[in-house]
Amino acid sequence: MSTFHGYAAPAAGKPLEPYSFEARPLGPGDVEIAISHCGICHSDLHLLNDDWKMSQFPLVAGHEIIGTVAQVGSAVRGLTPGQRVGVGGQCGSCGTCEWCERGEENLCALQQPTCIPGPGGFADRIRVNARFALPIPEALPSRDAAPLLCAGITVYSPLREAGIGAHSRVGIIGVGGLGHLAVQFARAMGAEVTAFSTSPDKETEARALGAQRFIAAREPSALGAVRGSFDFLLSTVTADLPWLDYVATLRPRGTLCFVGIPPSPLMLPALPLIFGNKKVSGSNTGSPSDIREMLEVAARSGIRARTETFPLKDINTAIGRVARNEVRYRAVLEL
Ligand code: NAP
Ligand code: ZN
Repeated sequence: MSTFHGYAAPAAGKPLEPYSFEARPLGPGDVEIAISHCGICHSDLHLLNDDWKMSQFPLVAGHEIIGTVAQVGSAVRGLTPGQRVGVGGQCGSCGTCEWCERGEENLCALQQPTCIPGPGGFADRIRVNARFALPIPEALPSRDAAPLLCAGITVYSPLREAGIGAHSRVGIIGVGGLGHLAVQFARAMGAEVTAFSTSPDKETEARALGAQRFIAAREPSALGAVRGSFDFLLSTVTADLPWLDYVATLRPRGTLCFVGIPPSPLMLPALPLIFGNKKVSGSNTGSPSDIREMLEVAARSGIRARTETFPLKDINTAIGRVARNEVRYRAVLEL
């Protein structure tokens, strides 16, 4: 028996408490990781509040994990104790379906999210399928790299799939944990980048991260001024926004892609999509091979999360700051 120690929410919306739990047996394909850092993603808050009605309590959330390999199962190849690895929002899949065979495990119907049911990374250790523990390039410091495991890959993969390049005009909606990395990746891909934000104090940093234009999205005339401007809009916000006004900022053949999860269903008339052949889409994190590629791109291009760090014992303080949109730009727990 191995006892791990972390912080769990006893019920929806309750403060996290110290929590010890028995680890699952180390399977032949598993790896055990001694966690050094874990980012706090807004999805953790959605889960801790049971916004999606799929959380199981007590819940140990956390899925932007970096640590060192402590032990490997008998069938694991390519990972050795002491090696630095990261785990994101997915920690397993069936391994045999069409999508797993293609290396698109994030589309597997039996994909195993790291925090549903958990236990996730707000703890000293975790055991996961070794396929989902990715080596971290040396150039990336752990605290700035942890947010890449969820926030980074979640914005990288739709930009990559959309073929974003020097010809692209990209708008990033929301400059939070996901958004501030999306600005950097879109710029590294060569796009002209516009950041939409409800926080005017983020303008200087958004420009420093690579946005050529900053739109204070709460200004009444803000969206009207950029009608017909963008090939690709990536929404990273947690709120309901006037989506039809955003569709109007797309150029013909433009796409409004959701990675952020607004509380309400999307309501859009079809005609503004039909005129201009526009698309609305969504994107779910990324596969292990996408994560490897994204980490290399980040290491090469100098892409780093801007982080505020907290000791694990201050996890409730950190979560409160995320909930109030006070963090600039990702809270990371250090163990
Ligand atoms: P975050 O760090 O809290 O950032 C969200 C940003 O949204 C805020 O910084 C803010 O940006 C903007 N925002 C917040 N409230 C708003 C409001 N009332 N009106 C307009 N804008 C508002 O959150 P995150 O960790 O980046 O996560 C963002 C979303 O992505 C969450 O819904 C999360 O669940 C989802 N997510 C999805 C996936 C996936 O696989 N698709 C993976 C990870 C996360 P400004 O201050 O710049 O306006
Ligand atoms: Zn996440």
